[in-house]
Amino acid sequence: MKKITNYINGSMIEPSSGNYFENIDPSTGKAYSLIPDSDADDIDIAVQAAQKAFPEWSGMSLEKRSKYIVQLSEGIEKRMDEFVKAESLDNGKPVSLAAQVDIPRAISNFHFFATAILHFASESHSMEGVGINYTTRKPIGVVGCISPWNLPLYLFSWKIAPALASGNCVIAKPSEVTPYTAYLLSEVAQEIGLPPGVLNIVHGTGGSAGDAIVKHPLIKAISFTGGTETGAYISRTAGPMFKKLSLELGGKNPNIIFADCDFEEMLTTTVRSSFANQGQICLCGSRIFIERPIYEKFKTAFVEKVSRMKNLAPSDPNSKQGAVVSKGHMEKVLSYVDLAKEEGGTILTGGKRVILPEPNNEGFFIEPTVIEGLKYDCRTNQEEIFGPVVTIMPFDSEEEVLMMANSTQYGLSTTVWTSNLKRAHRIADQVHAGIVWVNSWLVRDLRTPFGGVKASGVGREGGWEALKFFTEPKNIFIKQ
Ligand code: NAD
Repeated sequence: MKKITNYINGSMIEPSSGNYFENIDPSTGKAYSLIPDSDADDIDIAVQAAQKAFPEWSGMSLEKRSKYIVQLSEGIEKRMDEFVKAESLDNGKPVSLAAQVDIPRAISNFHFFATAILHFASESHSMEGVGINYTTRKPIGVVGCISPWNLPLYLFSWKIAPALASGNCVIAKPSEVTPYTAYLLSEVAQEIGLPPGVLNIVHGTGGSAGDAIVKHPLIKAISFTGGTETGAYISRTAGPMFKKLSLELGGKNPNIIFADCDFEEMLTTTVRSSFANQGQICLCGSRIFIERPIYEKFKTAFVEKVSRMKNLAPSDPNSKQGAVVSKGHMEKVLSYVDLAKEEGGTILTGGKRVILPEPNNEGFFIEPTVIEGLKYDCRTNQEEIFGPVVTIMPFDSEEEVLMMANSTQYGLSTTVWTSNLKRAHRIADQVHAGIVWVNSWLVRDLRTPFGGVKASGVGREGGWEALKFFTEPKNIFIKQ
């Protein structure tokens, strides 16, 4: 079976323990490659290499550094097909989604930050008759990037690209559930001749390799995307070490649909915002609030559309619904369907595991599921499910829907559907979220701040926010 390797100091190397664990294809339930079970020793070797590489990488001209990062982008693009297939195989997502979203976006992430750094300037504040302050922004040193399994290369590159562009050396760990495209990225880094030690990709579990990144004293900043509980652990552990932290965590996003919306556009987009990537996007809307006058119309049309969505093998070019990422995750999602029933919910469509013909008969497929009849404050409506399961609920007033929308511990994104501009502004202003889409969903401009409030995270990624996170400002005052 193919063995994935770590990429440390420019070389493909085995984990120091010699131990590996299985990488499972979610569409068949079978192992297809082996993942290094790296530990604190591997992280330490990577950190030493990164420390050594830092002076040259941070001191390199911006043009030269930018060129390396452009080459990473182009290197992925050259092997597009291979990356697309690998992402779909590893994650269970339809190959069409990996081809349209995941891999093109990873390419753009590198390209965006490679060029953004050429325009990144620091501030100066003049004090009339007194003097001038100028602020320099220097890279931090060695930084850690830890990412989840739902958009594997997309989110991995969203961290690595700004970290490298701003002159840091990186220790990066992809999710152990979906490591393959990160491994392919290390091949690209070798192909383009990225200086050794600048980027180190270490594979392994969160409890071992991830934890060692969080605890290593020479790693001065951590950019993490993943679950809220893991984020809380990282905060508790790295906070007292005075590490800079960027935490992108869970969500339970509301879709707020008013009766005056463009119904057809709203319906098509709401199907996508509910079930894209099998509902495993942190920005998916999983609580759908519908103004009462159109509740029944919405329910009938939505359930009709959703019940026609069929799970197909991710490699099938017609597949729009693939597998969820792992057996454990499938069981978690299905346990929430049981909980919803216990809490008095009615399953309008879906709710079950799907058994596809061989060779996918042991894959982790779940029917897209719509539930009604639940109170806004029950566990099903408060806890993150992160799968193809949404609830629908009617509302009667702006005050009521805002109260329900804001009732969870989370605050990542919100979607609002209305033709009333003033109302759109009011809701956008008052909803607890870092990102609001009006009459749209997941329109991304890489320059905008990305992140959540409350238990959805701390800090922002994207554009200047990311470059500011990965640099340390120093203010210098000169007396006139
Ligand atoms: P997770 O927290 O289990 O794992 C994320 C990463 O952290 C993995 O690489 C894992 O190995 C590592 N990790 C786990 N324990 C660790 C520890 N003790 N120390 C250091 N690293 C550790 O999350 P997941 O299940 O991979 O991803 C799903 C979660 O990610 C969901 O909650 C989802 O909402 C969230 N997410 C958030 C965003 C966002 O932008 N806010 C984007 C995507 C996913």
